[in-house]
Order: sequence, then C-alpha cells, then structure tokens
Amino acid sequence: MILRKQFLEHVGQTSPSPMLVEVERAEGSFFYTPEGKRYFDLVAGVSVSNVGHANPAVVRAVQQQAADYMHVMVYGEMVERPQVEYARRIAELLPGDIDCVYFVNSGAEAVEVALKLAKRYTGRTELISMKRAYHGSTHGAMSMMGAPEGEEWKAEFRPLLPDVRSIRFNEFDDLKLITERTAGVLCEVVQGEAGVRLPNTEWLKALRARCTEVGAMLIFDEIQTGMGRTGEMFAATKYGVTPDIVCLAKAFGGGMPLGGVASRRDTLNAFTNNPCLGHITTFGGHPVCCAAGLAALNYLVDNHVVEGVEHKGAMFEESVRQHPRVLEVRRSGLLLAVELGKAEYLYKLMDLFKEVGIMSDWFLYCDTAFRISPPLTITEPEIEECCKLIHTALDRL
Ligand code: PLP
Repeated sequence: MILRKQFLEHVGQTSPSPMLVEVERAEGSFFYTPEGKRYFDLVAGVSVSNVGHANPAVVRAVQQQAADYMHVMVYGEMVERPQVEYARRIAELLPGDIDCVYFVNSGAEAVEVALKLAKRYTGRTELISMKRAYHGSTHGAMSMMGAPEGEEWKAEFRPLLPDVRSIRFNEFDDLKLITERTAGVLCEVVQGEAGVRLPNTEWLKALRARCTEVGAMLIFDEIQTGMGRTGEMFAATKYGVTPDIVCLAKAFGGGMPLGGVASRRDTLNAFTNNPCLGHITTFGGHPVCCAAGLAALNYLVDNHVVEGVEHKGAMFEESVRQHPRVLEVRRSGLLLAVELGKAEYLYKLMDLFKEVGIMSDWFLYCDTAFRISPPLTITEPEIEECCKLIHTALDRL
C-alpha cells in the first residue's frame, strides 16, 4: 500500500486511473504481485516480451554485457560487438536489399529518424501517414498520428510538423495523393492501436508500386509487428512487400529499450554528410540492449518460436469467438483484437479479468475490443487455461 501511495505521489503519470497492479516478479507468460497473485500477461508490455519474461538466455546476455562494458561513447563512433552482430543478423532477415541498421532508443525515436531520413534522402518535405495510425508520442511521431482519431491527442500540442497529410489505410483511391512532392509514406503493416486492422495485400503492393513510381520512400512501422508477432519474423515478409525503410522497437530489444531504423547503406549514408551527424543519439544502440535483442532473436530462431505463432493465435481465436459476447476477432499471428462492440462492456471486463488473473488492455483508437498479445513463448496448455479464464470473465459480463 505504501509503495502504491508513493507511486501516486512521486511517479509522473499520464492516465487519471492507472492500473495500480504492483509487480514483484515476472516469468514466462506470467507476472506476480507481492500478495502472490498470478496474472496471465496478455499485453506483454505492448508486444515487447516476445520471448517471455525473464527469459534465461536474455538475462545471461544482459548480465554478461553489463559486466564487459556498458555505455562507452556517443552512438556510432566505436565498434561494439553486440551492435555489429545484431545489425548483421537483422539485415539477413529483413526482405530485399536492406543491409544496414541505425540504432536508437525507442519506437518514437525510430520514427523520427525514418521521417528525417526520407526528407534528407529525397530532398522533399511532404510526409504521409494512414488514418488511425499510431507511431509514437514525440512531436514528429505525433504529427503522423492519423486523423481524425489522432486529433483528440494532437489538438493541444499544435503546432506540429507542417506538410503532413493522412490517407485511408487499404483505400486504393487515396494512393493518388502520394505524389512527386512526397518524401515518405509511413505505414504500419498491421494497424495495431486502431484495434488490429489487417492490410489488404493487393493494396500494400499498390502502395509499394505508387511509392516507387513517384520516388517516395515507403517506411514500414514494424514496431509492434516485428520480431515474430504476426507469425513471420517481420510482417513485411508475411504480406510480401519490401519497404525502403523499416522502423523497429518494442520486442527488438528483447525486453530492454532499443529501437532501430533499417534501410540500405547508401540511404542511411545520407546522415553522414551535408550536414554530417544527421541524427545524434547518446544511448541509441546501448550495448546491453543490443546484447539482449540479439539473445532474444537467437532464442526465437533456435527454438522455432515464430513457426508456432500462427497455430497459437488460431487457438485463442477459435476459443474466444465461441463466446456469445464476442462479435468479431481480428488477428494476425498472436496479435488479436476481440471485439465486444461496446466500451462499457470492455471497461467492466477489464475488472473481471483482474479478478480471474488476466492482464489485458484495449487499444488507443478502439476501446470496444480487448487485446490478446501474450509472449510468443506461451505454451498450448497455458493458452487452454487462459481461454477458460477468459470465458469465465465473459460469462460474468
Ligand atoms: N509505432 C507503433 C506501431 C507502436 O505501436 C508504438 C507504441 O505503441 C510506437 C510506434 C511508439 O513506440 P515507443 O512507445 O517505443 O515510442
């Protein structure tokens, strides 16, 4: 109780009613309170803990790297093995001729860098995003929050970036708004905070073709979809479209804060001259974070975790959609939005979930659906047990 009181007094908040669940430890698919209550974690830190909480391979890598060296010099000057090895592995796995990673600290910073890179590389100024997009909370990333939903968050912070417009996701007609003036088009491959909206693959291909035609850079935000969440290591591969720039964060750091912007070497070189130091970041690519991310990636690959994601996602989908309260399930791999149709049901369900030992959440632009995005390492017996608890809570609604 004392800790909760001090949390409310001394830790800055952004929500009038924080969850206030105290965490003592977390392991695998669960976290535990000091009272010993266990929660199934269906949020995973918002698609961060893909390899499970306290994954021993990641813990070992963090401990080893912290003992070897932590921060040495501002990003990009020293040769640090965890950065080099991680960048090389990521380049191997990303589609097309993307061969280089610029490391940063977070998703929003990755988006900032990608927008700057598109402007710097093309010499143009217009930036385009999708309606109902979420790309982060800094001024630049916030400018790209799709209208009209994003307006609720943006209005009080204007003026934001100029020369920004938003087009409709999956709408072929809107592609003509991308022109020779456009520096970059920023797009989540699956719209996460819109409540898991899946792309029409033909539209994604047409988006790619339009960007190529007018010379605009196609930027995929894989911050939520990357590192196996959709059932492939990257959603770009799943939906068969290769962007010019990819933004990574969340699970990219294996539970540590890390972001990345991947592109071709010659594109990223735009930051090295006229002027040089096109983006500077002291802690970007921190060696401990890179070591954690690399260990997490190796864990996913060595244990064939990503190969199991589609089946696990389907298990959740088949179970929850049988409940009469559930109107629709939208899903890509282990990223699910379970639609109840009314916010009042959702808010009540969150309390019922807490009672039965489930942590879930709604989405920034969709408070009528709840989130299922557990660690990708969740086991099949755990999914069965979790689905029973979901049904118990839904029965009480
Ligand atoms: N892009 C997407 C698709 C996200 O879901 C998020 C965070 O939820 C971000 C960007 C921002 O990432 P961060 O919170 O690390 O700045």
